[in-house]
Amino acid sequence: MSALPSVSDKNHAAATETYDVVVVGAGFAGMYMLHRLRGRGMSVRVYEQGGDVGGTWYWNRYPGARCDVESMQYSYSFSEELQQEWNWSERYAPQPEILKYANHVADRFDLRSDIQLNTRVDRAAFDENANSWSVTTSDGKTVTAKYVVLATGCLSNARMPDIKGLASFKGKVYHTGHWPHEPVDFTGLRVGVIGTGSSAIQSVPMIAAQANQLTVFQRTPNFSIPARNATLTDEERAAFRTKYPEIRRFAREESRNGIYTEMPDRGALDDGDNERRAKYDARWSRGGLTFMSVYNNLALDKAANDTAADFVREKIAEIVRDPQTAKLLQPNNHPIGSKRICIDTDYFATFNRPNVTLVDIRSNPIEEILPGAIRTGGKDYEVDALVLATGFDAMTGSVAKIDIVGRQGHTLNQKWAEGPKTYLGLMSAGFPNLFIITGPGSPSVLSNMIVSIEQHVEWIADCIGYMRDRGLDTMEADKNAEDEWVGHVNEVANTTLFPQANSWYMGANIPGKPQIFMPYIGGVGVYRQICNDVAAKGYEGFTMTAAALVRAAVAS
Ligand SMILES: Cc1cc2nc3c(=O)[nH]c(=O)nc-3n(C[C@H](O)[C@H](O)[C@H](O)COP(=O)(O)OP(=O)(O)OC[C@H]3O[C@@H](n4cnc5c(N)ncnc54)[C@H](O)[C@@H]3O)c2cc1C
Repeated sequence: MSALPSVSDKNHAAATETYDVVVVGAGFAGMYMLHRLRGRGMSVRVYEQGGDVGGTWYWNRYPGARCDVESMQYSYSFSEELQQEWNWSERYAPQPEILKYANHVADRFDLRSDIQLNTRVDRAAFDENANSWSVTTSDGKTVTAKYVVLATGCLSNARMPDIKGLASFKGKVYHTGHWPHEPVDFTGLRVGVIGTGSSAIQSVPMIAAQANQLTVFQRTPNFSIPARNATLTDEERAAFRTKYPEIRRFAREESRNGIYTEMPDRGALDDGDNERRAKYDARWSRGGLTFMSVYNNLALDKAANDTAADFVREKIAEIVRDPQTAKLLQPNNHPIGSKRICIDTDYFATFNRPNVTLVDIRSNPIEEILPGAIRTGGKDYEVDALVLATGFDAMTGSVAKIDIVGRQGHTLNQKWAEGPKTYLGLMSAGFPNLFIITGPGSPSVLSNMIVSIEQHVEWIADCIGYMRDRGLDTMEADKNAEDEWVGHVNEVANTTLFPQANSWYMGANIPGKPQIFMPYIGGVGVYRQICNDVAAKGYEGFTMTAAALVRAAVAS
């Protein structure tokens, strides 16, 4: 059971609830943070703006939504019983099943009593005298906490496109990241999908199968690899479970992206054309994200990358019958993998259906949305319903929506105006006792996120425990350590092909957002080691103080 909240000042008429830790968000990060902190006897309050736990999997209910890291790996590893007992039904579980899993975790670990749903955190302000945070929520309350942990999610702030006339559209408008809870029936309708990122790639085949007519408005074609999704058999699950100790260890300690897979020992140009083609073919048949780990230099060397990109472009041309549509679907403005690579079930083949049309809005941007049509290239495409698959203000969007006020009244939004600055992605100088889970400057969205979430949660819980055990009550990233880390993150990114793409990793999908490469690309295993070394050296690069002890010393 969790510790009860204490009351800061029993004699004060309007006593404020006080917690050791306030956690913002009840997705996989917030739930595990709560569990871990409770295990250390801390009082914790979790606020979640949604109506239930699950985060991403609560909000993204569009048709075809499922994970793209295999479920046996895209799942918590912290509880041996949980990972042995939970039965994933498919190689890539669909959204309802992942949401069921999140709910199962909430019940199994008795988390709900400390999670306040339907409550948004609007403001968090650091009180330099009390060395604590004042947290204001959408229900008008303010609580105080020694620590605040932002488990707000990297892909939780859905991006609404700014298109002239959108508000005048008379049919239903859906955003994939805010999908209704009741099923949406497109039968008999003419549907327009705007965007061709991961969510569109998953939903387009499903919508096409239902709608009378589907028009897909594409600005940037994306690379996508077949998922080869399938039902998981008992034998397959058992094989995974037996190997779990090694799979999980490898994902945490050795992998680049938190996924267990073979480590390539050669570059793409070390093989001849036939051998290389055979390897790409084998991975294409196997399906999934590990396509990118056929060779060890696909993210580093443009000539090597071109061989993989050409292979996928050829596959698209083989699948899509109309040569003009195939050409439009072939990505040609970024190296493969430098934007989030997608995995799909029949995405490209869907464009062979007679009821599906692809419209290029790179050459002819959408001019206007009319009450019943989308106007582009001087033509009106009539639609009855609109699906916005326009993605997220990634990594910083949900943090920026909270008014976070640190030392001397400076806000995090002011500090991050030119791009996010953190030390290790975990803390930002000037904002003591404020942690971010999978923040910018950590591997986060470049990884199997549950692996990265678990690593951050455990590091933060250990850190808070370390401070409590030593009577320390304030922790802050050093400015120098932060500057060095930001420099390192950029330096590593610049050794790769990633900054060559206008991707949401760079903030490029949000007009006006500063463009810097946000996640740390040095690899999950390397990053974990750095964080562990920092902790082993007494949290090097952070300053920890005992304000109470300092005050006592000054007073005497
Ligand atoms: C469609 C889709 C598919 C994905 N598939 C994969 C995958 O296969 N593999 C993978 O590794 N990752 C995947 N991701 C990334 C996914 O976001 C993470 O894997 C993971 O679910 C993130 O968990 P989280 O708890 O950090 O954040 P989230 O799940 O985003 O949860 C954050 C929660 O914080 C809440 N919140 C935010 N701000 C506030 C506030 N101010 N007050 C109160 N509550 C707030 C939000 O409502 C949200 O519920 C996918 C993302 C999407 C959108």
